[in-house]
Formats: sequence, structure tokens, C-alpha cells
Amino acid sequence: MKITSYGAAQEVTGSKHLLEINGNKILLDCGLFQGRRAEADQKNRQNSLDIQKINCIILSHAHIDHSGLLPLFGKKGYRGPIYATPATRDLCSIMLMDSAHIQQKDAQWLSKKHLTFIPPLYTSDDVHEIMKHFISVPYEMRIQVGNDVFLTFHDAGHVLGSAMVELEYREAGKWKRFIFSGDIGRKNMPILQDPWEPSPCDALIMESTYGDRDHGNVEQMDAKLEEIIKEAVAQEGKVIVPSFALERTQEFIYSLHRLEIQNRIPDIPVFVDSPLTVDITEVFRLHMESFDEDFKKQLREAGNPFDLKRIRYIRSQTESMELNSLKGPAIIVSASGMCEYGRILHHLRNNISDPRNTILIIGFQAEYTLGRKIVEKQKQVKILGIMLELKARVRIMNEFSAHAGRSELIDFGSRYANTDTKVFLVHGESKAMQALYSALEEKGVKNLSILKFRETIEV
Ligand SMILES: [Zn+2]
Repeated sequence: MKITSYGAAQEVTGSKHLLEINGNKILLDCGLFQGRRAEADQKNRQNSLDIQKINCIILSHAHIDHSGLLPLFGKKGYRGPIYATPATRDLCSIMLMDSAHIQQKDAQWLSKKHLTFIPPLYTSDDVHEIMKHFISVPYEMRIQVGNDVFLTFHDAGHVLGSAMVELEYREAGKWKRFIFSGDIGRKNMPILQDPWEPSPCDALIMESTYGDRDHGNVEQMDAKLEEIIKEAVAQEGKVIVPSFALERTQEFIYSLHRLEIQNRIPDIPVFVDSPLTVDITEVFRLHMESFDEDFKKQLREAGNPFDLKRIRYIRSQTESMELNSLKGPAIIVSASGMCEYGRILHHLRNNISDPRNTILIIGFQAEYTLGRKIVEKQKQVKILGIMLELKARVRIMNEFSAHAGRSELIDFGSRYANTDTKVFLVHGESKAMQALYSALEEKGVKNLSILKFRETIEV
């Protein structure tokens, strides 16, 4: 087997790893590069993969940095199957549409900047086309995907539908096993099942996003949120929450739900102002296969956990704009998660300079984003072209993270200590990767390496 990485090699976006086994070319993930717009756009357009020769694509999960280049692959002639879990398929149909919309806006911005027409990477028509190629494969179902190659998805516990990919293949008459971790989730998170505990294998590709740090304790989640809300309400202020539409927001609402039924927070309105988030939240209840026992019990006995007494899910722009004149304490959850685009910009513009308000950051904020500037508590920030004073208080909760922290990654990788398993690290910035590499080496993982962009490794 040969492995070549075409993305998420020593970085965190653009996940794409090509496997060549028994004459089959299998692509794991088909992710979009994200980050600084012009640079990411160029990386997405220049792809050296011979797309028409790929036999099949296997998706680990629906996040755009793992699935967002699929419509472009379709446009360039990819006609093979795309294997994904049923929830990943359903989420992709919504999230790729949203991505097409962003691509169109980005192309307009780039055209203006370069004073020449630049077509979008793909459009909604391309999304419709590529969706026809999906094949849904439930967790734990073993199917043949190529000549002497079999696939099984296992629950990764990262986001709804997320999977680890197990491939069994025959090489020189011998059966072998390969595992791709995708993004690894956290144990004991509400809603989702815990991540699968991987079995012995010959080769493993694993992520290393948080190889250098752990997150806040899951058990502290509700108490910390309770404190932040009470503090904001005491000040008569609003809580503005930039949200990641998939998983983070649902975890956040479910935490509010628990606080509400235990009468731990004041009775204030909650607005979820993001059409994408509203659509994704509706998909959740269609996929019982991803839920842990507590969440199934909740659904069975207490009804919809995403329903609060005073929650309003907002799709229309008019209703969204009405929030501008809202008086008194409230919680407003809106996208995008890193404050780069979307309705959150309007809510931040209206609320960031009032010291009574709180900006609550619940997700990772990449370099150069507005979210990062807020986390750094810069005195002034530019929003929608206007310089504004940052006077609201900024609170950060990483308890909602959907990624395994350092200790969990070490536990995962060190299963292969003192074995012949070849372990390849991907999906991490260099500091995090180096930290995980050293920790795993210390634990006794012998055949350890970091995959490099476009370098082919023979396993
Ligand atoms: Zn992910």
C-alpha cells in the first residue's frame, strides 16, 4: 500500500489522503483548504490529484475541511462512489450548499480585488450533481469497496455521523488492516457516543489537532455556563455566542436545556440566528445511531433536547434584523464560528462596545480571524468596515470542544506502543504535531512519522 497526502499534512485543513492498494486508488476525505482567503483559494484550485483515476472516496465526516472539495471534484469529472455514514450524507447535503454560497461570495470578493472575473470554485448546481454519488454505509457494516478491499465505519464521537475508517485489504496473499482516525472526539461528551477504541492494525493515520493541549473538563461545562449567564443577566447585558453550526451549537443548546430544567439560569430569551444551524439541528433527531444512552433517554422521556422554553430558531433575515432593537438580557447564538462572515457580524457590531454585554467564545479561533482578535481582547476591532471599541467582556469556554485533547490523543496512539504498527500523524499545526510525536515516542510507539504534503510513503 502507498499513502500520499494532498492536504491536512502538517496543517489542519484540506484533509485528503490517497491510498493505492491492489491497483485501487482510494481517497480518504476530500476537504477544502480554509484560512486566509486568497491563499486558500489558490490551494483549492491547484490540485495535482488525477481526479478521474480515483476509484472511490471515503469520507470521515461532514466538516467542510474534510468534505468541502467534493463538488469541485465532480465538476472536474469524478464519477465514482462516495462512501459516508447516513448522517454525514445528510449533513453534507446542507453544508455543501452553504459552502457553495460562500464560494460564490468569495469569488465576488476576489474578482473585485483582482479587477477581473474569477469564477466560484463551485456552485449549488455542482453540489446537486455530486450528492448523487453518495452511498450511505451505517456504522459497523462491512462492505467491499475495491478489489480485495473492505470498508467498515466506526463511530469517532467527534460530530454527528463522524467515523473512523477501517480498511481490510489483501496484499501478497496476506490480509492486512489499516485505520484512519478522521477527527477524534472526546469521551463523556453529552449527546454523542464515545469514540471507538481502535483495534490492532498494520498502519494507522491519526489526527493531532490538540497534540499540545487539553481542554476544560466536560463535567465543568454546565457550571461554567451557568456562572457566565448569571453574571451577564445581573449586568442587564446580552450574551453573544459565535457558533459553529455543527455539534458545538447543539452541545451548547443542550447544556442550556439542562440548566433550564434544573432551574439554574434566569428565564431569558435565546435566539439561534443562523439558517444553517437551524437546518443542521433538525437533522440531529434523524440519527439515533450516533447518540449515547443519556441522550436517547432524554429523547424518549423528556422530548426534544433542543427545545427550550423561550428559544427561537431564526431563518428569515427580517426576524434576524429585528434582534438589533432587542432590549434587555438575552442569549444570541449565530454563525460563523470564527466571526468571519454571516449574521454574527451584525450582532457583534451592535453589541461589542457595550460593557454590559458578554461575547462568549466556545470554539477554536484561527489566526487572522475576527474571533481571534476578540479572544486576544484587542482594544479596537474592525467589523463590517467600521472600527469599534471592544468593551464587552470576553469569556472563553473550551469545554464544548468536539476534539480529543492531548491526553486522549496520547491514549489513542499509545495503543500501538511496542507493536509493529506504522503510525502516521496528520491534521495538526507543527507545534501540536511535534508535541504529540514526542509524547508517543516516549510511550514506545516505534514506527512513527509525520506525513508530508505530496510525499508518497510505501507502507
Ligand atoms: Zn472535524
